[in-house]
Formats: sequence, C-alpha cells, structure tokens
Amino acid sequence: MEENISLPFCKSLFQYQRNKTTPVRVGTLTIGGGAPVSIQSMTTTSTLETEATANQIIRIVETGGELVRITTQGRREAENLKAIKTLLRTKGCDVPLAADVHFNPNAAEVAATLVEKVRINPGNFVGGAKKFRHIEATAEEEAAEVQLIRDRLIPLIHLCKKQGTAIRIGTNHGSLSDRIMSRYGDTPQGMVQSCMEYLRICCEEDFHDIVLSIKSSNTRVMVHTVRLLVATMRREGMHYPLHLGVTEAGSGEDGRLKSVVGIGALLADGIGDTIRVSLTEAPEMEIPVARKLVDYMAQRQNHPTIPPVDAANYYPYEYHKRVSHPVLHVGGEQPATVLTDLRGRVTFAPPLETPDLVLCESSGQILPDHWKEIIRVLPFKETDTAQMTGVVPFFDTHEHKEWLRFKGTCLLQISHPQLTQEVLAELKRKRDTILLLSTQNINATAEQRASFLMLEKEGLTHPVIVNRSYQETSHESLQVKAGADTGLLFLDGFGDGICITAPHHSVSKITTLQFGILQAARVRFSKTEYISCPGCGRTLFDLQKTTAEVQAKTAHLKNLKIAIMGCIVNGIGEMADADYGYVGAGAGRISLYRNRELVKRNIPQANAVEELVQLIKEHGDWTEAKDQIINQ
Ligand code: SF4
Repeated sequence: MEENISLPFCKSLFQYQRNKTTPVRVGTLTIGGGAPVSIQSMTTTSTLETEATANQIIRIVETGGELVRITTQGRREAENLKAIKTLLRTKGCDVPLAADVHFNPNAAEVAATLVEKVRINPGNFVGGAKKFRHIEATAEEEAAEVQLIRDRLIPLIHLCKKQGTAIRIGTNHGSLSDRIMSRYGDTPQGMVQSCMEYLRICCEEDFHDIVLSIKSSNTRVMVHTVRLLVATMRREGMHYPLHLGVTEAGSGEDGRLKSVVGIGALLADGIGDTIRVSLTEAPEMEIPVARKLVDYMAQRQNHPTIPPVDAANYYPYEYHKRVSHPVLHVGGEQPATVLTDLRGRVTFAPPLETPDLVLCESSGQILPDHWKEIIRVLPFKETDTAQMTGVVPFFDTHEHKEWLRFKGTCLLQISHPQLTQEVLAELKRKRDTILLLSTQNINATAEQRASFLMLEKEGLTHPVIVNRSYQETSHESLQVKAGADTGLLFLDGFGDGICITAPHHSVSKITTLQFGILQAARVRFSKTEYISCPGCGRTLFDLQKTTAEVQAKTAHLKNLKIAIMGCIVNGIGEMADADYGYVGAGAGRISLYRNRELVKRNIPQANAVEELVQLIKEHGDWTEAKDQIINQ
C-alpha cells in the first residue's frame, strides 16, 4: 500500500527510519547526517565563575554528555568562555561548547570566535527581551523589522562561516517576537515562521552549519510544532538537523516523563539528531535519562515488519481525539482511564492514587478497603456476571475463540497481528468490548498506531486501553521506556487508557507512573502541574530548593499549573500556559504572576512562597490538602 504523501514529517509511519539530515560539525561532534543521536546538557553555574563552570562541564562529560551549553547573556560572560575553554583543555576535556546567547548579538559575535556553537533565539535576538506588545504592523514596518534582523544576523553568519562555528536557531514557545506573536499568536505556525525566517536568511548567505530547535513545556505543542517545522523545511528542500527538548519539564518522575514522552514521540518517527533532557536537578542527572532514551529508540532499527495501514485521516500537526464510544469507565468523553495490573500480586501496599479499573488474577484477589467501588477485570472463567457486581470478564490473547462466543461487556486483550477480518467483523457486532491493545514489537509505538489506524479505517470506535509489558528492574528505565512507547499515542489522541504491566515494580509505583504518563501527555491531570526551568547562569535563586518548597505547599492543587522560573528575562514568556508563576526578578527578589500578568513585583524572596499561596487563595483556586485526601 502507498503511504500517505501528505505526511512529509517522517519517512514512514510503519517502519522506523531516521530522517536524513545535513551533517553539521560542532568541534569533534557531528550532529545530523546519520550520526548517532547525541546527548547534551547545560551548565547552571555563573559563567563568570571559571573553575565552577569547568568542573560542572567535566561532570556532565563524565556521565556521557557530548556537547555542553553555557549561559552567555552578555559580553563579559562571552569573553570568559575563553578562560573556561582553556581550563577544560588543560584538564584534558575537549567537549564541544555552545554559547547560550538568546538575544545579545554582541555577545553572540564574541562567543562565535571562542566556542564551537552559538545558540540564538529568533524571538528576541533582535529587539531584546519580550515586551508582550500587540503590534499591528504595516507591510513597510514588517519589511523594516525583517531588514533589522538581516542587519544583525548577517554579520554573525559571516563570522561563524569564517570561524567554522555552528549556529542553533532555538525557538521557544512563549518567547516569540511581538511581531510574530501579534500575527500568528503563540501557535505552532508562529514558532515555525519565526524559525524559518532566520533559517532562510542563513541559506541566502550560503551558511549551512545550522541546527534547529522548537521547544515548549507543553509536550503536545512541542511534538506537533516540530513535525510542522520538519514538513515546512522539507517543502523548501531543507534538511537541517534538529535538537529536541521539552523546556521547564521539572524534576523527579514528572520531569523525566515529560521529556521522554515529548522527545520519544519524535525519535520514534526518526526525527531528531541531538537531545537535551531538561531537569530541575544537577545537569549531570539529565545525561543517564537521555542515554537510556536514545539507546532504547535505536533498538527499533530492523524491527519486525508492520504492514502499512491507510493513514489518510491521520493529521499529525495538531491534537485530535480519536472518536470512541464509552464502555463502563473507558472511552467517549471520559478522562483517560488507568487500569492497574494486579496479576501475580498476593498482597500490596495501596498506591496514593486510585486506579479506575484493576486487572486481577482471580476473584480471590484481596483489595484495599477503599477500593471496593473499583471495577475488577477478572479472567472470564472466574466470572459469573449474573451473580457478581462490579466485575468485567477478561479474555487474554489466546482466548479469542471464547470471546467470539461470549455476549456482554468485556475486556479483550489483542495485538495488531490479531486484528484479523474475523475479529474486526465480530467487533462490529460486539460494541461493548473494551480493547486492551498490547504489542510484542520493539517498535511498539508504530505497531500500536497502526492498530488505531486500522480500527479507524474499519469505522470501529471501541475504547482502547494501551498496554505495554516490561521486565525492567530499574525504575528509571521503566519510566523511559513506558513514556517513550506510549506518549505519542496519547499526544495524537489515540488512547482511551493506559495499563503498564511491570512485575518487578510495586503496584504503587506503577499506578503513579501510569497517572504520570497521562499527565505528561496532557490527557488527564491528576496532580499539580509544575513548569520549572532547569536553571542556568541567569538563575537568581536556589531553584531546586524553592521548587521543593513550592511543591510541598501546593502538591494537592491538582487543577493548577504553577511555574517556577529562575529569571525574568526568559521566564515570563516560557512559562507560557501556567496559571501562577514564581519568577526570579533580581537578587533576593521574586515577582509573582497570574496567567502571565504581573501581580506582585519584586517581593522579598524570604516570604515569596507564602505570598504565592496567599495569591492562589485570593483568587479562589486554593483547596485544603485534607479535602483532597478524603476524596481520594
Ligand atoms: S528561565 Fe531564566 S534562569 Fe531559567 S533556564 Fe531559562 S534563562 Fe535560565
């Protein structure tokens, strides 16, 4: 079958292949051109502290970092890159360095003579920090601003060409220029236009050592926008390599899940040449997560064949929920379901979160007292639904003959090769079957996406719970694999629920992981959403400590998004869709925001967390923690 040619963002939806990109040399590293996906991080030290910065870079390299970015907000920091690089070379470290400039052309030009790569942000490279003004530009004014960009960018391009320095055009959600924002809004189209405007100037100047990125803390926005960028480039015959990352992902499991869901969804389709997993933790903590993700995705090479399915209705540039009809708690307009697999568990400590359904080995499975209302999914031989309440029969992958004879509501485990004409025809008769979609294919994402496309082609709207099984013993590896395998399916609106089978991990951890993946993919919010930046040389307070303090006070406010951003320069724009923002405004000073509006300016840091709580209360968004516990 011909593949859908309206999908120029990747080579195939069914066979893992990396997109071919132009190779870019960054010191000893090649990005793109078929080189392995490289891993990078960024320093959080002050760039004026030479020893501390060099030591942090060495720690990043020792854990596997292949490129390190350094905050370069001004000329002094740019000039000090020389001392940092010299010290690193003295210590035997030849890792390529990138200057993170954002919006200072003078600093960019100094850095271009000293390090291997310079990152600029098209949202603010010309015009400085955002002012959030609405601009109704005439054609002449628009042309004048584009000319200004050319005037500032072309000298940097010529310098980079002469020095052999690469440029990253790094666009971020929320930090578009006022001109682009006024015309397109903070949309994927706006971000792509912003990036392409700079890229076209580079191409006109015959400069091609370019890496591109479009990042967002919103995984859905990030994935759909990067796909749109790839498609836009391809239409113009461009194939520049891509740097992938989810900004302000936060820390701990939630931070890891956001990154692996977003980055994994793109790597799964062969998009991406270098990645950064941003965490509000020490930067060297990012590297093992990134390494696990890259290695896991690379295993998809030469996976068992997945026969192509008609993808004419698959639109990968924005979110569309697959239409499903509800069966019990699953599908339709209901939030994505969490099914916890209890098979093989005799006793277990109940998780903090309560799943919607539990898959039990037998009717004798003992459940916690407060789980009495939860629907149990039991092997069909153990069920007599006429006699039992709150029970749904379960048909395993080898029990399809029994399912064919069964009448009534049930859960059927199925994998893509089992979606035969006979099964599809029977599904048309049995609307009250919930599908538990599993896979044995190492390219799990592509095979399960093919199943959804096949159901759609057949007009079948049965609710589908995405199931994956893992034998991992490391919890971080489980987070990486489960997030990367399932994320794309939720970001593209396919799944109605999740079930992770992982016998080496506690019921509590698996249940939390399942809720976490759904939240990272933005299909179910079960806890407070934190948008916290990873920190850099611009950070104005102890981010990790403050983030922990804010979390301790607000972790029960599950309908809120709270941003904790290290600086005012990039923080306000990049906290894009947060309800409340805690942003570093100066030494020992914090500004508080509500829906990006400044509400409290420059308050002392010592009271700032309490003031944030007060602000949330004043606007009626506060609930007491004990109420939440009773409701669980
Ligand atoms: S918000 Fe400011 S402090 Fe935080 S990473 Fe971005 S530039 Fe650095």
